Amino acid sequence: MSDALIKIEGVTKSFGGAVKAVDDIDLEIGRGEFFALLGPSGCGKTTLLRLIAGLEAPDSGRILIDGMDMSAVPPWHRPVNTVFQSYALFPHMTVADNIAFGLKQDRLPKSDIRDRVAEMLDLLELRTFANRKPDKLSGGQRQRVALARSLAKRPKALLLDEPLAALDRKLRDQVQIELSALQRRLGIAFIFVTHDQDEAMTMATRIALMRSGKLEQVGAPQEVYERPGSSYVADFFGRANILPGRIAGRNGALLRVQSPIPGLTFQAPHSGELAEGTGVWIAVRPENVTFEEHGHPNRANGIVREATYAGDVSRYEIDIGSGLVLRVSIPNRIGESNSRPERNAKVCVSWPNAAGILLTR
Ligand code: ATP
Repeated sequence: MSDALIKIEGVTKSFGGAVKAVDDIDLEIGRGEFFALLGPSGCGKTTLLRLIAGLEAPDSGRILIDGMDMSAVPPWHRPVNTVFQSYALFPHMTVADNIAFGLKQDRLPKSDIRDRVAEMLDLLELRTFANRKPDKLSGGQRQRVALARSLAKRPKALLLDEPLAALDRKLRDQVQIELSALQRRLGIAFIFVTHDQDEAMTMATRIALMRSGKLEQVGAPQEVYERPGSSYVADFFGRANILPGRIAGRNGALLRVQSPIPGLTFQAPHSGELAEGTGVWIAVRPENVTFEEHGHPNRANGIVREATYAGDVSRYEIDIGSGLVLRVSIPNRIGESNSRPERNAKVCVSWPNAAGILLTR
């Protein structure tokens, strides 16, 4: 990336023990990106964010922001600002004073501070709350104050630690949209930590999925969903079915895979050369599997173990033998949901060749 704002070069961080919280990571984040650090608890995403902020120092490697090596630069002199999960607002100060705090510390002229606070109150629609204390605000309003306080210093990137964690489900959906709009309007990089794949998919322009201190895959939401590089990624985003097998040969653009079920092969597109007998996985998304009678080339007979109605979709678990259970998700369009199989029914499941993602790890 030629126009990278943040360059992370071979950064490793451990906390004394043998485990590396962040393990030799290389990553570039561009200006104006809305970038998600995603992964399960303990994968190192918060540590990576804190390394960028300067709240932790790497054991090895370095971080450059805007071309400058940050190794010797303390957090308060870095051109980034952090919004903490708890918001860390000063309870005894008004909203306006909270926003002005960092600017006063930087000894900006009084008139500049006044202008900047007014600008932030407008930007985050907080004008009517300017003289309130944080405990008289809702969760969403408190978050907007934390954002205003961080943005007042005009950072080149905003770092957000689980920005929606303290909000209830309904407010979260609304704030997701607000945050995305704010980021687009300001055009500065937002880098946020989350363990929620939906949240990352909805807000981010690019996602880094982390696993045990390393980057498993980095890409746009559509890329990581449609072209996962490993079974871990395919499972993490949208819980794909991961079917193990061995390469049985080629059929034009498709590779044939012998499943653990005797006599049953599947096929999926793949351009690379893989020797016969190589162990692989085929990932198939639940929404790409159907019960259609004259179905697709990849098919298996099975028994319905679970059938649940979830409003917009119905979900099924189909036992196809040899310990393989296929998750199927069918949208409930009006007039179509009556002829669905019930628990213990015998069914045939099938999916098109293009729905199979062939994975080698
Ligand atoms: P979570 O979503 O649970 O916050 P995370 O992906 O943000 O997880 P980190 O907080 O970065 O993960 O932690 C990565 C690893 O480093 C974990 O094994 C954690 O226990 C360890 N760790 C993090 N901070 C410290 C610390 N200050 N001292 C010791 N170990 C730490």
